Amino acid sequence: MEEEQHEVVIVGAGIAGLATAVALQIVGLQTLVLERSPELRATGAAIGLSSNAWRALDVLGVAHKLLPSCPTVPKAVVTDLPTGSIQAVPFTRSQRGDTATRIVHRKDLLETLAEELKPGTIRFSSKITSIDQDASSSVTAVHLDDGSVVKAKVLIGCDGVHSVVARWLGLSEPVHSGRSAVRGLAVFPEGHGLKNGAAQYVIDDKRAGFAPLNSNDLYWFITHPSTAREKEIQRDPELILAEVTEKLAIDFPPEFQMVVRHVDLATLSWAPLVFRLPWDVLLGRIHKGCVTVAGDAMHPMTPDLAQGGCTALEDAIVLARNLAGARSRGQLAAGLESYVRERRWRAAWLIAASYLSGWVQQGGNAGVWRSSVEWFRRNIYYKFLHSRIFFAVHQYDCGDLLPAE
Ligand SMILES: Cc1cc2nc3c(=O)[nH]c(=O)nc-3n(C[C@H](O)[C@H](O)[C@H](O)COP(=O)(O)OP(=O)(O)OC[C@H]3O[C@@H](n4cnc5c(N)ncnc54)[C@H](O)[C@@H]3O)c2cc1C
Repeated sequence: MEEEQHEVVIVGAGIAGLATAVALQIVGLQTLVLERSPELRATGAAIGLSSNAWRALDVLGVAHKLLPSCPTVPKAVVTDLPTGSIQAVPFTRSQRGDTATRIVHRKDLLETLAEELKPGTIRFSSKITSIDQDASSSVTAVHLDDGSVVKAKVLIGCDGVHSVVARWLGLSEPVHSGRSAVRGLAVFPEGHGLKNGAAQYVIDDKRAGFAPLNSNDLYWFITHPSTAREKEIQRDPELILAEVTEKLAIDFPPEFQMVVRHVDLATLSWAPLVFRLPWDVLLGRIHKGCVTVAGDAMHPMTPDLAQGGCTALEDAIVLARNLAGARSRGQLAAGLESYVRERRWRAAWLIAASYLSGWVQQGGNAGVWRSSVEWFRRNIYYKFLHSRIFFAVHQYDCGDLLPAE
C-alpha cells in the first residue's frame, strides 16, 4: 500500500478547497488538494458573487482576472405575480466603491483559482473514504478509494455538503429545507438583449428568476417545494427540462419560460436545498486538533441570500491568516481553533438569515399562517428588509493576508 505525507491536505477542489489552497500558498504553506472527480466540477453553471466575495478574491489575487468578463448586477426587479406589484431591490448600497454583485461562470471561477496553484497541487480522481488519527501521532491519515493512504499534518475538509471530514468531526448531517432548486444557463447566440438587472418572480410557494452573465448568457433558477418525482429525474436533463416547462414554470411569465427554453442542457441541475442547523455550527466540533472544515462542509445553507460560495471564499482568507507562520503541531492546532472562533457566528448567522429569507419569500411552509407570511413578504420584507439584509451581509470584510517572505 502506498503512503505519503504532506504538510496540509485539502479534500475537495470546489470553491472552498481551491480558494483555501491559494490562500495557504500565499502565506507560505504548500498543500495537496484531493478531488474525487476526474476534473474540476462546475455544477450549477454560474454563481452570484457579492462584494464580500470580491474582497476575498482580491486578496487571493484573482479578482482582476474575473471582473472584466462579468458585468455588475445592480438590482433585482421583483414581481409579485398574484398582485402584480413590482419592487426594485438594490444589491449594494455601499458608499465605499466596492465591487457590486456579479454573476460568474463557475467554471471560470474554479479555473482561475486553480491556475494560481503550483503544478501538481491538485490530484484528481482521488476520493477519500475514511480518516483516522492516532492519539499519540501528530499526523492524520486519509484513506482513498484506491487503497492508498495520504498522511497530513493538517487536514481541511472542503468536501461539500456531504463531507466525510465533517462526519468524522462529529458534526450533524445537514437538514432538508423541504425545497429544491433547478438552475441552468440559457444561451442566446444572437444576444439576449436584456439590460444588466436581474429579474425575480414570486408566486405562492415558488420563486424564479434570471440574471445576465454577459450579452449572450443568462443564469436562471427556480426554487419550489420538493417533490417525490425529482429523485427519479434529477440525472436526466431532458426530463428536468420537461418538468420545468410543463409544470414548475407554468405560472411564471412568458419571458421567464422563454429563458428556460434556451437552456444549454449540459448546465441544467436539480438540487435539494439543505442546511446545517445554526446551533450545530455554533456549538458543534468544527475542529479537532489539526483537522477542520470550510465552505459547505462547515456551513451548508439554502441559497436564498446567494452566500454559500461567497462565505467559502471568506473562510479561505480567515483560515490562511490564522495558520500563517504556524509550523509546530501546537501552533497549527491553535491557528485552526482561532479560525473556527472567527467563523462560527458569521456562518450560523448566514445559515439562519438565508433560511428565513427563503421561508418568507416562498410563502413558507406556514400552513394557516401562509397568507400572513405572504402579506409580510409584500408589505415589509421586500419594501424594508431585503436590501438591508443584503447590505449587512455584503459589507463583511474578511481582512488581508500577509504574503510569506
Ligand atoms: C441552487 C443553488 C444556488 C446557489 N447560488 C449561489 C450564489 O449565487 N452565490 C453563492 O455564493 N453561493 C451559491 N450557492 C452555494 C454554493 O454553490 C456553495 O456554497 C459552494 O459551491 C460551496 O463550495 P464548496 O467548495 O464548499 O463545496 P462544493 O462546491 O460542493 O465542492 C466540494 C468538492 O469536494 C469534492 N468532494 C466531495 N467529497 C469528496 C471526497 N470524499 N473525496 C474527494 N473529493 C470530494 C467534490 O467533488 C467537489 O468538487 C448556491 C447553491 C445552490 C444549491
